Amino acid sequence: MTLDQIATPALIVDLDAFERNVATMKAFVEARGLRLRAHAKTHKSADIARYQIEHGGACGICCQKVSEAEALVAGGVRDVLVSNQVVDPTKIDRMAALATRARVLCCVDDAGNVADLSAAATRHGVTLECLVEVDVGAGRCGVAPGPAAVDLARAIAAAPGLTFAGLQAYQGNAQHLYAFAERKAAVAAAVALTRETVALLEAAGLPCPIVGGAGTGTYVFEAASGVYTELQCGSYIFMDADYRRVRDAADRPMGEFAPSLFLLTAIMSHAKPDQAVCDAGLKVQSVDSGLPVVFGRDDVEYVACSDEHGVIADPKGVLRLNERLKLIPGHCDPTCNIHDWYVAVRGDRVEALWPVTARGLAF
Ligand code: PLP
Ligand code: MN
Repeated sequence: MTLDQIATPALIVDLDAFERNVATMKAFVEARGLRLRAHAKTHKSADIARYQIEHGGACGICCQKVSEAEALVAGGVRDVLVSNQVVDPTKIDRMAALATRARVLCCVDDAGNVADLSAAATRHGVTLECLVEVDVGAGRCGVAPGPAAVDLARAIAAAPGLTFAGLQAYQGNAQHLYAFAERKAAVAAAVALTRETVALLEAAGLPCPIVGGAGTGTYVFEAASGVYTELQCGSYIFMDADYRRVRDAADRPMGEFAPSLFLLTAIMSHAKPDQAVCDAGLKVQSVDSGLPVVFGRDDVEYVACSDEHGVIADPKGVLRLNERLKLIPGHCDPTCNIHDWYVAVRGDRVEALWPVTARGLAF
């Protein structure tokens, strides 16, 4: 099949750009002796996770939910960090059961949760590796860096069925700060708190094999810190319109990763001379980080959307009915979550269909 035979709207992956992005990150971590634990929340695909492990230098995969971990392990992934708190008894039980089939790690920020995780691990005869999550500025989950983290690490190390594996220190708020200096300063603050906590833990006889964090917006800083050992970038494989607004040191768009994820859409109406309407609306994308950008065109602009329609300003009236456009989604992760398939294309030929394995799983 060729690109023009794909029914629209469709989520497509440009394999050449995708493979280059994956190779760029692989070379980056290998040159620095760091581990990459790529975040699968971006793609929710077992095919992509396996590709990142087999060809992209990833030691394993992060995911955000137990359901995602189950889908990835069923798809052949053998090393999964649930980079989140797992506190619901049913979910804890399922996660412990999963650890009979794969290496499973999770984050912890509560002493009561340590007891629950320990009981489940013991029941299933498995080991769950636990990272103490510290809040290094994101203001989301995580205990305060410093002594509180040491107390929790001690409790984990003493709990049957659990091992203390290190720290989760992800500064999520920093990723999409557009100005380079702002991202750098936010991560510098996170690094200082993390470094101090690692030192306290070591002094308490609790070394950290894993110090994990970083996303596509800031990985260069965590990598240079000498403190972080595992990078958790997710969006780097696809990029999105919002990440294209993130600036590098020279105040240019980040250049190392190219957009590889697109919504293929077709023009369905051009009843007004200066406005076209395409078939990609709200139901095929998330616009929480802004509207999509029309790839490779500056003569037309996606300006509004409703459930099933996208309005495209076409001041020169150049678009034609059935003409196809590639849209760079505003935000890749929640966009992928509402599709069943990636249509993977090389040039204009379809090469593979990858199911969005953990699509929509909300638990
Ligand atoms: N690590 C954690 C814990 C995250 O929540 C996320 C994304 O939100 C990432 C890594 C990946 O970030 P990005 O997609 O910006 O690379
Ligand atoms: Mn995101």
